Amino acid sequence: MTGTAPRTTASSAATTLPDRVSAHHPEPVDPSSRIVVIGAGVVGAALADELVMRGCTHVTVIDQGPLPVTGGSSSHAPGFVFQVNGSRVMCGLAQRTLDKLDGLEVDGRRVLDRTGGLEVATTDGQLAELRRRYGYARAWGVPAELIDPSRVAQLWPGVDTSQIIGALHTPTDGVVFSKRAVEYQLARAEEGGAVAIGLTRVVDVEAEDGRVTGVVVEDAAVTPSDGASADGTPSDGTPSDGTSSVGASAGGSRRTIPADVVVATGGIWGHLLGKLGGLRLPMHPMEHGYAWTAPVSDLPGTAPDGTTLADDQAGRPMIRHQGAGLYIREFGDRIGIGAYEHRPIPIAPEDLTDTAHLLESGQEPAKRAFTHEDFEFCRAEAARLLPAIADLPLEDAFNGVFSFTPDGGPMLGPSPRLDGFWAAQAIWVTASAGCAEVLADWMITGDPGVATQELDFARFDPALLSDQWIRERAAEAYDEVYDVTFPHQGTAVTRGLKTSPFHTRIQEAGGCFDEANGWERALWHGQNAKLLNDPQFRTRPVKAFGAAAAAATALTDPAVPGAVGGAAGEAGTGDPGGAAGGDADESVPVVVPRRDAWDQVNWSPIAAAEAWATRNRVAAYDMTSLTRYRVRGAGATEWLERLNTNKVGKLPGAVTYSLMLDETGGILSDITVTSLGGEEYMIGANGPLDLDRLSRLLPASGTVVLDDITTSTCCVGLWGPRGRDVLAPITEGDISHEGLRYFRAARIRVAGVPVLALRVSYVGELGWELYTEAAHGLRLWDAIMEAGAPYGIVPGGRAAFSSLRLEKGYRAWGSDMTREDTPDDAGLGFAVRMQKDGGFVGREALEEQPSRGRRLVAFGMRMDAGRPEAGSPVFAGTGSGAVGTEAFVSTEASAAESPTGQALDADAVGWVTSADFGYVTGQVIGLAWVAAEYAEPGSRLGIMRFGRVLDAEVLAEPVYDAGMSRIRR
Ligand SMILES: Cc1cc2nc3c(=O)[nH]c(=O)nc-3n(C[C@H](O)[C@H](O)[C@H](O)COP(=O)(O)OP(=O)(O)OC[C@H]3O[C@@H](n4cnc5c(N)ncnc54)[C@H](O)[C@@H]3O)c2cc1C
Repeated sequence: MTGTAPRTTASSAATTLPDRVSAHHPEPVDPSSRIVVIGAGVVGAALADELVMRGCTHVTVIDQGPLPVTGGSSSHAPGFVFQVNGSRVMCGLAQRTLDKLDGLEVDGRRVLDRTGGLEVATTDGQLAELRRRYGYARAWGVPAELIDPSRVAQLWPGVDTSQIIGALHTPTDGVVFSKRAVEYQLARAEEGGAVAIGLTRVVDVEAEDGRVTGVVVEDAAVTPSDGASADGTPSDGTPSDGTSSVGASAGGSRRTIPADVVVATGGIWGHLLGKLGGLRLPMHPMEHGYAWTAPVSDLPGTAPDGTTLADDQAGRPMIRHQGAGLYIREFGDRIGIGAYEHRPIPIAPEDLTDTAHLLESGQEPAKRAFTHEDFEFCRAEAARLLPAIADLPLEDAFNGVFSFTPDGGPMLGPSPRLDGFWAAQAIWVTASAGCAEVLADWMITGDPGVATQELDFARFDPALLSDQWIRERAAEAYDEVYDVTFPHQGTAVTRGLKTSPFHTRIQEAGGCFDEANGWERALWHGQNAKLLNDPQFRTRPVKAFGAAAAAATALTDPAVPGAVGGAAGEAGTGDPGGAAGGDADESVPVVVPRRDAWDQVNWSPIAAAEAWATRNRVAAYDMTSLTRYRVRGAGATEWLERLNTNKVGKLPGAVTYSLMLDETGGILSDITVTSLGGEEYMIGANGPLDLDRLSRLLPASGTVVLDDITTSTCCVGLWGPRGRDVLAPITEGDISHEGLRYFRAARIRVAGVPVLALRVSYVGELGWELYTEAAHGLRLWDAIMEAGAPYGIVPGGRAAFSSLRLEKGYRAWGSDMTREDTPDDAGLGFAVRMQKDGGFVGREALEEQPSRGRRLVAFGMRMDAGRPEAGSPVFAGTGSGAVGTEAFVSTEASAAESPTGQALDADAVGWVTSADFGYVTGQVIGLAWVAAEYAEPGSRLGIMRFGRVLDAEVLAEPVYDAGMSRIRR
């Protein structure tokens, strides 16, 4: 920002701000800054505490409600913290929350009880899901045991185990008493110098020159009346009849509290607060049925060790019954029941009441009228589980309100429109202290310390963020909160927001679509089923592992083109003949795998057929959803060089794979930079986070212009050995191997369409990414398909693509590597030029610490083992040798020997980041992080899938076409 803009309030400015990022890359916050935290719920209190612990001297926490029980969501949460999560980052946040709160007390009462968690299964499908979750627990170091019904009965006397077939017991999970968590952390922050102000509402944020300067607040004038305390303290979550009320009038005196930094931690009001900072946060308040029963005569009211339970305390594990969409916990001698299995009930953020309403009516904003009919199913199911509550009345019941987001993740980060404005929103109690630690680190040091692609609100494309999209995606998230999430399970709502110009053609070809970042992307095409009966379609045997493999390794696999050596055929079924022994033109057979029920979901054998067509003939992939930007202007080269590990400012036509790092040397993104001449570049990037960061880092001089050209352009990936036969006849321009070399770009015309052709291949075959304006796209697609018909061209989908890229060892940022990883560890050291003139962001850190002690490796497994998911734990040694072939189910008897549930005593040495069927290489193939000592090719690993530990082997990379003969021709 330059010049002196008039003082303005951000709420009014927000509506006139451009859609684009206008804030700067956030500088670390000076601890002496005046920091205002809006909201004293469990998140705001934790953040204030963390900021004070990091030396911040002027922290002010402001809440519209009375302190410390404000009437927000934290005043009502039963506070379950189940740590197990498919996401390593989310699990880590829960672990950090529990670690922080463990042992803390308010007035002699604990903030956290590690009662343990118990997830029960009543069907085979649910048990399979628990085995899957057991794997996550092992991967992330959460103590866990799979237990049988007798052990459930032991842990929870009174539960009817006749319907239960197994359970996941996580003994270190706990109940956080969120009101006490607020009280403790807020008090500690105040002891450290923070100021907490209740009954004061932030109504605006003031800004100057695009920077926060203060908050405008309004006092609530309170006149106590019957049934309420003088300070307006609402019911603190114990059963109430909801009739207390106080006379109050809002809109008292307005004043400005000066601030250099403002953080929105406003819970369900986050969407509204975000607007004050120029944010559109995709979060939505949803109602959630919750109730307590009357006292249960069969409940002992004591903990297992005999101590008497307080009326809000649980002695036994919290129960989660995902099949019925409900949870249960003890409250002394009563039972609390939470219901997720009801229609989503969104509340428009504008319809939320505030403190003034609370003070007038006694009705707390995060506590809405109970809707009996929505609760009935879960209540009945809860009674089936715990018959003692069947005939008990509900003592208190309400619809609690908290926030849901499209992907279930929180909203953290600095505003892209207003310097000094941050948010920590849509955070459950579970992640509260963890998120506060991360955000405090991020603010004070610039380094959040963890991967942020699942946390940073900039992960969403601003173009998607309509009210409808936010509401419908949040409602879907509510609906699915306890559901099993299957591979490639996309959203079912607000589909079709982004389609490529080829979309109708792909539909005509029978495209089976999933969705990513708003884009419709075909997984495979029904029309390609015919390939499976093509006379030339050939299958190969599966690759053998373990003893059956004898001496064969991936590098001597005769079916892998470009592989060295020429070992004889392998054990297995299928047609072993005709394996390609390094000749780029020899035909390549594939395996059509047998698959179990899980792998069957959102998968089709057509994926194998499309992979076969790509490796043997030619296929056209719709790559339009790849994010791309144009960068131009004087200084563009210098700017890009500073941000990139590789030298990107090369001669026109050069294409460079490069990394962008943070200051600690962690990988923020991998990109492809195409030099177009005259300080103009096209960048192939990963998504909205790249645009957010790059926009913030643009030189203040305004000489470098950055444009997102993703939706205005389109891209066809034309790949396969017959690619040149298809493209050459319809091209004006030289696309010979010599005329357009690998990793070079040229402007050509294809069927009259102006095209920027990049000779790159993410699937490991000869070919190009062909970019043009969206208006030309359909003609480009049609011309290619027509020219390709004699060569058997087919459209290829994401399912084949995923397999082909893994066979080639290509990493996907966000899943395979993140800012927690360095280039060398991720196997991407080749993209770093340490000696580059002028250096680059992150170089000094890399010099100091090039490795963080783990490595991303390719692994192979038997095809019939099935695909392990991201987050599957990896163990040292073979599956059968190290940890047993099957996760045991702990019985009452065995539990006595294994009270912690750690019967499998080997610790995981890593985790899977992606895996798929390698159709051509005849094995399940994937990438995994492992401790450095297990990274050598040939190392034997055990990978857990649905509780079974399966043999795997570290493979030399790339597994497919190590000699690059398929691409460079
Ligand atoms: C019934 C129920 C069950 C739940 N179960 C669980 C569970 O088992 N496990 C779990 O992890 N989570 C659970 N949650 C979710 C969890 O309670 C919330 O996600 C969490 O408490 C949110 O904390 P917060 O600090 O962000 O929000 P809040 O606690 O709502 O605090 C936000 C504060 O901001 C203040 N504020 C807002 N706007 C302004 C303004 N303009 N000026 C001043 N102050 C403002 C509000 O008054 C409020 O005090 C549950 C929630 C409910 C309601």
